Amino acid sequence: MPDFFEEVFSYCQEDLRNHLDLKALDPSYKIFYPDGDVITVHKDSEKTKEELEKIEKGSSKGFDGFIEEATRIYNKVKPLLYGCFTAKAMFNPAYWGLIGEIRAFESYWQLAKKFFKSKKLCYAFTFEAMFMGVSPFDVPAFYSVISYTDHVQKIFYPMGSMYQIPRALEKLAQKFGAKFNYNAEVKKIYSDNGRIKLILDKGEAVFDKVVANTDYAYTKTDLLARRIPEYNYSCSAYLLYLGLKQKVKGLAHHNLFFSQDLNKNLNQIFRDQALPEDPSFYINVPTVTDESLAPKGKDLFYILVPVPNLKRLKQDFLKEEEKLRGIIFNRINQTMGIRLQDLIEIEHKFYPDDFTKRYNIKYGATFGLAHNLMQSAFFRPPNFDSKIQGLYYVGASTQPGGGLPVVLASSRIVADLITGNS
Ligand SMILES: Cc1cc2nc3c(=O)[nH]c(=O)nc-3n(C[C@H](O)[C@H](O)[C@H](O)COP(=O)(O)OP(=O)(O)OC[C@H]3O[C@@H](n4cnc5c(N)ncnc54)[C@H](O)[C@@H]3O)c2cc1C
Repeated sequence: MPDFFEEVFSYCQEDLRNHLDLKALDPSYKIFYPDGDVITVHKDSEKTKEELEKIEKGSSKGFDGFIEEATRIYNKVKPLLYGCFTAKAMFNPAYWGLIGEIRAFESYWQLAKKFFKSKKLCYAFTFEAMFMGVSPFDVPAFYSVISYTDHVQKIFYPMGSMYQIPRALEKLAQKFGAKFNYNAEVKKIYSDNGRIKLILDKGEAVFDKVVANTDYAYTKTDLLARRIPEYNYSCSAYLLYLGLKQKVKGLAHHNLFFSQDLNKNLNQIFRDQALPEDPSFYINVPTVTDESLAPKGKDLFYILVPVPNLKRLKQDFLKEEEKLRGIIFNRINQTMGIRLQDLIEIEHKFYPDDFTKRYNIKYGATFGLAHNLMQSAFFRPPNFDSKIQGLYYVGASTQPGGGLPVVLASSRIVADLITGNS
């Protein structure tokens, strides 16, 4: 979604292209099914349709229909991403028609079912929900905007890694006088005679306005000592960062490995709160696009496995981790014809509770509050505090939601609230 980034830079009278080298990926991604079928999603949709036809005859027509509908929904949803709604807005008749138009009461999965017959293709056009930390069976159909961005806007990568994005934003902010105070942990937030006091790990500071992008649930409970409703949380993730001794053939930059029974896989994560026996997972191989990231002739992998958050996880993650890693490695080895364990030069592991320990994310729920209907739009926490004037909330668990472009939209909402532009 480069338009969200372009907007920030052009607002600051800068050209995004002078700050980030965004490369459109081709192929966009590859999907590996357990029976050996593979779909390559290309930048050119006509080539993607040829791939889909191999899985389901007539599905290229379904693709056109699905994308047309996802595009229609995107055009309705995008303007909403720049507004902060209170629950009261729900009673505004102007929004009632829209609720039907964006298919708020249908699931993402039900939308895909209208256009594709095979489960394989329904998975291929709804899996994106999993990487927002929710199940496509639970999330409203308007989250098909992610399929729209994948297939219509295409997939972009900032050369030099995702980390170039915060670096570019930091430089841009510094140009306008912003000062960054890193490694300073906020311990408490208090209202202080019309101003806002932050208690830091080293000292304290008082401000007229504070914008908190710390995890919303954590900010409310731990920093403000308030009670919060029984929210629904996104799933967590188990991450493996691997530096490999050699390159692995056959993978794209983005790769999805689906489980045999995605429904069971998702039920285990979201309903049973148990570690998946046959997990779906994602492998990112940035060195396919950007060789500068690793020594010559070597690959970088990062593997992301959606797992339950820690609120009600029934097992001890650490006790089960080796087994889970083994299942994932077996699947990769069988599919790619390698022995991944023998190729590893460096391995870093990141567990669900690392999200809590390192980033203060409640229950290790990687993507913050879940994106179900009752936690979207009017029902998602608004971007301002109702008790402390001058305190604002931005980021994944607030309106409009998670993912880097959408989080940028939430920062514009806050900027508009502060400057009175909203
Ligand atoms: C593995 C993974 C892969 C992802 N891939 C993508 C992707 O490809 N594309 C995409 O669009 N999105 C992706 N996302 C989602 C995206 O990263 C998030 O939606 C986004 O970073 C959320 O931004 P935020 O500002 O709300 O929170 P964060 O980026 O989590 O920032 C919150 C910051 O607050 C700091 N903090 C916490 N507590 C305190 C405290 N007490 N005092 C001071 N600072 C504190 C944290 O250290 C952190 O730096 C991914 C997320 C993960 C975990």
